Amino acid sequence: MPLPFVCHSEVDVLIIGAGPAGLMCANALANARVNVRIVDQKAVKLTTGEGDGITPRTTEVLQSYGLAERLLRESCQLHLASFYNPSATGGIELTDRIASVTAPSARYPFEAALHQGAIQDIFIDSMTPLGVEVQRSTIPTSIELSKDENELVDPTSYPVRVVLQRLDKSEDEPQEEIVHAKFVVGCDGAHSWVRKQVDITMDGEQSDSIWGVVDMVTPDTDFPDVRNKALIHSNHGSVIFVPREQDRIRIYIQLKDKDVINPMTGRVDKEKMGPEQILETAQKSIVPYKLTRKSEFIWWTIYSVGQRVASKYSINNRVFIAGDACHTHSPKAGQGMNASINDSHNLAWKIALVIRGWADMPLLSTYESERRQYALDLIAFDKMWSTLCCDKPLTEQNGDGVSPDHFLKTFQTDFTSGIGVHYQPSVVVNDRNQELASGLVLGKRVPPYKFMRAADAWPFELQDLLPSDFLFKLLVFTEKSFLNRYAMHGTSRFDIITISKGRKQTFNIFLLPALLRSHWSKVFIDDTDPTGRFGGEGYSYYGVGAEGAVVAVRPDGYVGAIAPLDHVEDLDAYFASFMKIPA
Ligand SMILES: Cc1cc2nc3c(=O)[nH]c(=O)nc-3n(C[C@H](O)[C@H](O)[C@H](O)COP(=O)(O)OP(=O)(O)OC[C@H]3O[C@@H](n4cnc5c(N)ncnc54)[C@H](O)[C@@H]3O)c2cc1C
Repeated sequence: MPLPFVCHSEVDVLIIGAGPAGLMCANALANARVNVRIVDQKAVKLTTGEGDGITPRTTEVLQSYGLAERLLRESCQLHLASFYNPSATGGIELTDRIASVTAPSARYPFEAALHQGAIQDIFIDSMTPLGVEVQRSTIPTSIELSKDENELVDPTSYPVRVVLQRLDKSEDEPQEEIVHAKFVVGCDGAHSWVRKQVDITMDGEQSDSIWGVVDMVTPDTDFPDVRNKALIHSNHGSVIFVPREQDRIRIYIQLKDKDVINPMTGRVDKEKMGPEQILETAQKSIVPYKLTRKSEFIWWTIYSVGQRVASKYSINNRVFIAGDACHTHSPKAGQGMNASINDSHNLAWKIALVIRGWADMPLLSTYESERRQYALDLIAFDKMWSTLCCDKPLTEQNGDGVSPDHFLKTFQTDFTSGIGVHYQPSVVVNDRNQELASGLVLGKRVPPYKFMRAADAWPFELQDLLPSDFLFKLLVFTEKSFLNRYAMHGTSRFDIITISKGRKQTFNIFLLPALLRSHWSKVFIDDTDPTGRFGGEGYSYYGVGAEGAVVAVRPDGYVGAIAPLDHVEDLDAYFASFMKIPA
């Protein structure tokens, strides 16, 4: 007889689901020293397949957690995208080659392709030394949110009660655990149990687009773009090639309903098609080029996706959903994993600040306003892009088809690189004083630029001075003094980085007011390094004039507010709208 006893526990944040969204959230919160737990129904971690493309912005985000180096070491970099269209003589022909992503301001202006299991390992290996591990073979069986208003608005209370069940416990261990959590984040994928339990609906429709995907070792081929991202529009359908790590490639093909849908159930039937048929369809679509498999397939799947967005991202700012639980779309724009990682990047610092008692609960509402709008924009883009990918190409017989030019222009958006994400005005994105720093756009991420460290002439990348360490950064473009009551009360909540217009030959760090040089490593000058190769002209790049400016950068690297040096009260008002004033 199993023992009927249960155990109780408390945790600040319980994350359900250890895919990219859940692991990103757990790792970020572990870094912030938040008491966090993460559970997953699967007994073992993912080793192959699923998503594989990391966009330039996501690589910048990973760098802010110190994780980009490993990604770049293990992944395949995609620098060029090629476009093929039907040729006049039958088959396909090359029509263009351009940058694989349109992100001229990106620090890493390329996509990084690596299988999802390896990307998830990067997070797992980062958080393990911080004492957070995925508790596997574990599912929630019930979730209840307190109805007590006082409890819900009190950030120190534990108003969410989740019953967890271990699927792998022996009979003499407790089968159930009741977890009392301050916050729960449902990162449990497209069929999210959490979302259904809290009655959040998905808006949108099931797409009619079904894709076959196969991962394999680079085949024997004379197709010249097999190691570039290749987007092929053929009279046999659309094909996408994605070069991958360790001499692998991924091939996506678009499938017809009749080939994969079971007429009895109306659902995708994996028995109806296998990797051989996916490869055969790709082979037909790239004639006159040849493609011959060299070894076993590594992974394959068939999947259909809805283009849908959750109607809400949270219940009372206590139970959140993130990642595929909130939005699903086609793989054509390569955004699934990226959107999921960036949802958690947006949410984690907000939860951490509330748990630390630094920010008020309403800050958490900006997670939904910022990330849901992004998902709506993504679905709109995905619909347009999917139509272009799936429609027949322009030919003599098909005058209404998609022209290569139109296809190319749509591809060249900064939206898919993630760099174009632009959060709208809210309590954490002010809309004043943009003219003081026109290159640091309110609501967008801080673009990379090199400045020279004043004390020792090291050239530094500004983004490296903005790590995801849960602190706001104040970039002070000045040589004068300035005061801020939050900074005065405890600089531990802010990192003040001074960027002076001085010259390396004459600059004296000790002539700056003490507040602007909390440590010698925090002062930079807008001058070239001694070799003349890096830096200089940073004021001009960021659109900052001689009058200077103070720029508040959010913990996630987005520009939150800008103030004139002689009116820093503007920053006081900004922070007062969501931060608690220290006693
Ligand atoms: C079969 C498949 C193929 C895909 N192929 C591609 C592709 O080719 N290209 C692309 O860009 N994207 C692809 N995707 C999408 C991409 O993988 C997702 O966008 C991305 O993984 C979303 O991350 P996530 O963390 O939100 O969700 P997921 O990665 O789905 O992670 C959810 C996690 O929650 C766990 N879980 C679910 N329910 C429970 C529960 N009740 N209790 C505990 N744990 C639970 C799951 O085991 C899983 O580990 C694919 C997805 C799938 C499922």
